[in-house]
Amino acid sequence: MARVVIVGGGGVGDAAAFALRKRGFDGEVLVLSVDHDRPYDRPYLSKEFLRGEIDVPKVFLHSEEDFTSERVELRLDTRVTGGSLRERRIELEHGGHVTFDTLVLGLGGTPRRLPDVPSAQNVLTLRSLRDSRTLRDALRASTRLLLVGAGFIGAEVAASARTLGKEVLLVEALPVPLERALGREVGEIYADIHRRHAVDVRTATKVEQWHLEGDRVAGATLSDGRCEAADLVLIAVGIEPNLELPRELGLPLDGGGVRVDAGLKAAENVYVGGDVAFHHHPVLDRAIRVEHWEVAKGHGRGIAAAIAGGDAPYTKLPYFWSDQYDVSLEYRGQASGEDTAVWRGDREGLQFSVFYLRHGLVEAVLSMNDSKTNELGGKLIESRRAIDASALRNADLSELVRGLEATTPQASG
Ligand SMILES: Cc1cc2nc3c(=O)[nH]c(=O)nc-3n(C[C@H](O)[C@H](O)[C@H](O)COP(=O)(O)OP(=O)(O)OC[C@H]3O[C@@H](n4cnc5c(N)ncnc54)[C@H](O)[C@@H]3O)c2cc1C
Repeated sequence: MARVVIVGGGGVGDAAAFALRKRGFDGEVLVLSVDHDRPYDRPYLSKEFLRGEIDVPKVFLHSEEDFTSERVELRLDTRVTGGSLRERRIELEHGGHVTFDTLVLGLGGTPRRLPDVPSAQNVLTLRSLRDSRTLRDALRASTRLLLVGAGFIGAEVAASARTLGKEVLLVEALPVPLERALGREVGEIYADIHRRHAVDVRTATKVEQWHLEGDRVAGATLSDGRCEAADLVLIAVGIEPNLELPRELGLPLDGGGVRVDAGLKAAENVYVGGDVAFHHHPVLDRAIRVEHWEVAKGHGRGIAAAIAGGDAPYTKLPYFWSDQYDVSLEYRGQASGEDTAVWRGDREGLQFSVFYLRHGLVEAVLSMNDSKTNELGGKLIESRRAIDASALRNADLSELVRGLEATTPQASG
């Protein structure tokens, strides 16, 4: 009987395992994960779970019974350290090996550490359910949180901590938070939103010196010269994709991840998805690596479809969202710093969208509290047709999309 072995029990791994059954795959499905918990909904960890609004088992993606009834074997606390693709075998950290017919890797990443940060009891990072539980308990007992890094995780934790009534000091090395992901103007809007919620946002600022009391950080001196007290610290400066195993297996590394083709394949019988996949996206016609939940789940489902039904390009556009306070951000596609931004909607009222154009083609659309526009924007990206900037600013978007669909040549056959 064919055996699919999935390494990683996160977004990719869970989606791939259960989608294989949905697609009628009848062979063995084995998930190996170094995590202590069965697959859970990671985005909750900086939001509802952290705030104590939901608890286990609500964070789990599937119940234990689902694993039994769908015949998905799950081995937790199990790290895969290497193996041989030629012999279709992977090695486990604590001895033994597992053979496979098809291998799927969804390995995610490990929170980056900063070189001078002390390993004190109240200095935390956030990736796993365990991390979130530790942070949640520590947050309850703390008064002032020092957050280092105003990326999505940092910004979401800041919003959650403020909602819980904690004081928050948010230190960001860049002049504008989220600038790399969202551009300067939207980043500034975010900084404003946090300031309005009484987060002390210090941009273009770094921690110069940590102050310890016993095994705890009691505060820090910042590069703006000020000395700040804190009884809890979260370092949220991004992840390093987990590439040790792909490296050991001799998979092609590129773009900060594992290079996969349009169908998410890295080698014969080996598929890679999620945060570690550097995917040649067939619609955007360039390779991208995206660290977002819906992308990871979509990759998992796409890989399952390929295993059960034959290789095919994976065409779904990257999509992510972020909820902070009552602001809901959605983003489709992928822009770069050089793209032209076209704004539409009510910027002051925080209900707007921004389209990013390159050579007239829409590459991405970002929306704040403007879900419908975001969805239509996705269709404009997929059309790969040049679109006039003034039409984007003013036209009825539904009509624009309908017009494009009516004039798009249909594939024959
Ligand atoms: C707190 C938090 C909040 C987030 N919120 C959002 C959000 O709002 N929106 C959004 O789009 N994205 C969000 N993300 C990002 C999103 O969760 C990730 O992009 C997604 O989980 C990636 O899925 P993955 O399967 O690639 O990796 P993961 O979900 O990280 O899963 C990787 C799995 O592989 C296991 N593993 C790694 N190496 C090995 C090995 N050698 N052997 C065995 N097992 C191994 C890990 O233990 C883990 O189970 C958030 C992330 C975090 C941490």
